[in-house]
Amino acid sequence: MPRSAAPTPASGDADASCARCDAVCCRLTVVVMPEDDAVPRHFVVRNAQGVEVMARDEDGWCAAVDPQRLCCSIYADRPLICRKFSMGGPYCLDIRATYRDQRLRGIPLTLY
Ligand code: SF4
Ligand code: SF4
Repeated sequence: MPRSAAPTPASGDADASCARCDAVCCRLTVVVMPEDDAVPRHFVVRNAQGVEVMARDEDGWCAAVDPQRLCCSIYADRPLICRKFSMGGPYCLDIRATYRDQRLRGIPLTLY
């Protein structure tokens, strides 16, 4: 689903699928660990706390999101924390619900 598509009302989230999602989890802060040495360095910045994280675009999405396809452009080399994030898991469902609610109510999206 493109980022600009109209959100649907909350009615459970049994169909959570990355193929039909606005890459909502790619708005979370992603810490880049020392073992993430395959991550292209131009996507990595140091935050105010001095921690290396994935850079974000002006709307809050990870800079590695492919804006046309809304998927990870560095999938094979993505950070460990991204590899561990499970589709349909509690955290996925929670941030999708928050995202859907904020868009429906027209309030600014949360930056994590
Ligand atoms: S893991 Fe969840 S939040 Fe992330 S893209 Fe897939 S469905 Fe969306
Ligand atoms: S590295 Fe890829 S999977 Fe991880 S937040 Fe960025 S776009 Fe999403």
